[in-house]
Amino acid sequence: MQDQVQIWHEIKHELANEIETDTYEEIFESIDSIFQVKNNYIYLIVENEFIKRRVEMLYLKRMNRMLEHYVTERHEFRLITKDNAQKELQSEKQYQPNEPDHHSDSVTMKSNLNPSYTFSNFVVGHSNRLAYTSSIKVADQPGFVANPLYIFGDVGLGKTHLMQCVGNYILEGNINKRVMYVKADQFVEDYVRYASKKRYNEFANLYREVDVLLVDDIQFLAKKEKSQEEFFKLFEQLYNQQKQIVITSDRKASDLKDVMSRLTSRFAWGVTVDINRPDLDHRIKILEKKLMAETSDTDLIPNKVIEYIASVFDNNVRELEGALKRVLFYCTAFNYEFNIKNAEIALENLIRPKHNNRDYIKNKIQNVLSVVADYYNITVNDLVSKKRTRNFLFPRQVSMYLIKQTYDLPYKKIGEYFNNRDHSTVMHSVEKISNDLQTDKNIKIDVEKLKIKCGENE
Ligand code: ADP
Ligand code: MG
Repeated sequence: MQDQVQIWHEIKHELANEIETDTYEEIFESIDSIFQVKNNYIYLIVENEFIKRRVEMLYLKRMNRMLEHYVTERHEFRLITKDNAQKELQSEKQYQPNEPDHHSDSVTMKSNLNPSYTFSNFVVGHSNRLAYTSSIKVADQPGFVANPLYIFGDVGLGKTHLMQCVGNYILEGNINKRVMYVKADQFVEDYVRYASKKRYNEFANLYREVDVLLVDDIQFLAKKEKSQEEFFKLFEQLYNQQKQIVITSDRKASDLKDVMSRLTSRFAWGVTVDINRPDLDHRIKILEKKLMAETSDTDLIPNKVIEYIASVFDNNVRELEGALKRVLFYCTAFNYEFNIKNAEIALENLIRPKHNNRDYIKNKIQNVLSVVADYYNITVNDLVSKKRTRNFLFPRQVSMYLIKQTYDLPYKKIGEYFNNRDHSTVMHSVEKISNDLQTDKNIKIDVEKLKIKCGENE
């Protein structure tokens, strides 16, 4: 037993390095003693049922994999709650705990959830930590800790994923729970359909019996007064019965302008959390996780390429995921090496329209400016200044033209890079160079050269 305690401490140490500090402290720090070792099962004592379930569902597999490195004969961890351990000791009976819960398709088949949206493949970082911890608490104790749970944030940042984690987690714990996921626009459509046949009761019955209601993209209730009325009734009913409600939205409840305030004010009764854009490190972690899900060979794509993808796609996780899939497909289908050049080719069509990607575009524009300044032997400062001598004016017009051509930014936006020149100045410059190109061969050659140089420096 002493040996096993030591092994457990080693494994705890490994876990501490691998998982978020907050989560580690909340879950693992207090797991310190072993109840018994029996039939090659090592029973760890945990604080309560919630922790037990969470470890079983999210970490047990990983712990058992780690354990393999420490033992020669096959052993596995099992968990027992403190209470049960005490009862067992008192009754001195042989302890025979239940098998831990395992993922089972039949469970998720019963709901309309996507079974792959689980907490274990949701990557936590600064931008979504609060949303994640709130969601897991709700999943632990639906109806009690935060009702409703209101999650808001921009598109593609994981709201639907997280909301469905809550549902899947609850179902995995209790197959008999009735978890219903519905998009708000679908709610509206259904309501209209039933109402047109005056089947109001039937519609209400669709939702009346649920234990957990997940309503996605609530902003789609805007301007649909009748549906809002219906949803309000449903909300009141479920809320009063302490049934858990989770809502997602693309904005704060107070910014839902065309939704009745009677409803939006209810949303504030619970807990509101937001999800923001992930930072670079977080994006890299997400890509690594997705890569692991796509292929067993996690070294398939070099870190540099992963970092490249993460640095370009900084806006939203859905795009990030799409970019990774595209690179994977491109390189495997044609048997190309996974390097940055090939990733760039694979992603060309996705990168070009990414003008809302501020850092990326900013870097590209700085690059154009320094290439042009270099070419005409002036400084970038002079290039973007308001000085109107021909030495500076012409290169300035050329760089505005190049930026417009290559990145198709709005004129006003381009003006910002030139000491806030206004939109019309930029427009005239671009037009002037376009005309020059038709008539002046030398200018045409210059511009072609510059285009290549700007590309080469990427
Ligand atoms: P939203 O509902 O906010 O528009 P989704 O939940 O549909 O976004 O997420 C878009 C995609 O990004 C999904 O495939 C989802 O699995 C993935 N995703 C988003 N956030 C994360 C995350 N933190 N970890 C792993 N995958 C994520
Ligand atoms: Mg969504």
